[in-house]
Amino acid sequence: MKERLEQIKIDALKEISECTNEAMINNVKSKYIGKKSTFNEIMAGMASLSNEEKREVGSKSNEVRNIINEALDERIKNIKDEELNKKLESDKIDITLPSKKKKIGTLHPLTIVRQEIEDLFISMGYDVVDGPEVETDKYCFEMLNVPKDHPARDAQDSFYITDDMLLRTQTSAVQIRSMLANSEKKPFKLICPGKTYRRDDDDATHSHQFSQIEGLVVGENVSLSDLKGTLETFAKKMFGENREVRFRASYFPFTEPSYEVDVSCFKCDGKGCNICKGTGWIEILGSGIVHPNVLGNCGFDPDKYQGFAFGLGIERVASLKYGVTNIRDYFTNDYRFLKNFDRKEL
Ligand SMILES: [Zn+2]
Repeated sequence: MKERLEQIKIDALKEISECTNEAMINNVKSKYIGKKSTFNEIMAGMASLSNEEKREVGSKSNEVRNIINEALDERIKNIKDEELNKKLESDKIDITLPSKKKKIGTLHPLTIVRQEIEDLFISMGYDVVDGPEVETDKYCFEMLNVPKDHPARDAQDSFYITDDMLLRTQTSAVQIRSMLANSEKKPFKLICPGKTYRRDDDDATHSHQFSQIEGLVVGENVSLSDLKGTLETFAKKMFGENREVRFRASYFPFTEPSYEVDVSCFKCDGKGCNICKGTGWIEILGSGIVHPNVLGNCGFDPDKYQGFAFGLGIERVASLKYGVTNIRDYFTNDYRFLKNFDRKEL
């Protein structure tokens, strides 16, 4: 019986070492130490043995069963480790591979320039004010000293929604709203950035939709020299100390006196080219001293207060800064154009 038990041990250990999965392990277990196994038969036959033999065979059978059980446990542990290793191997991530580059959006050049101008004026103590793009005729024209029959309306031929509502032709209406809302009629400095609309023949420098920033300062003892100093600071900060600036007398219904402010052409340096239409200068903004009628319309005493105002096109400033020669590039959403304004490269 001891020899048979020894043989069972040898055969079982051999088969266990050949097992490659859990099902095979269970089969081997059942075959060698299960209920219908030779091992069990031997155990059942022990009853007929003498006490001496019982002890010997009992001891041997315990030893054999323990060895087989240990071998089964160890083999199943190894099988599981091998499976885990295989899984880890197949799921391995190669960290040396370069990652796929994700395209991150950039700020639109008009936004970059708008924020730059806002930062400059905020640093000079201005508030930034927003307002509606669909405006009433009253706020867009009448309050700005442009009555219904005024010829200046022709220059801003507009997109009307009703007889009395239109897409704003300038952000000046925001200034009117701010002055009316200023209940104590106290001095203030503000800029109003935003989109504006005028019926226009689109070309390299004109668009029916464009963005403006208008500024308005109202206070006591505000003079033309304050306006000039402010705009010179703006022009030199935005375009560099070498860019030349000139003031030309002009006319706007809401300012008196009025001025166009020009900057020397960025492309030809003042010699004359298609961008500056041969003049060497590019008009960047209109400005002037606020007309007393506008102050009076908004409840500010024109005898006590004066003010200056200015308005500029953001597209024009952006074109000067970046050398963009076609205003339509700002609105066509062409990635090849927009990617040039990646923040990292600016
Ligand atoms: Zn030029």
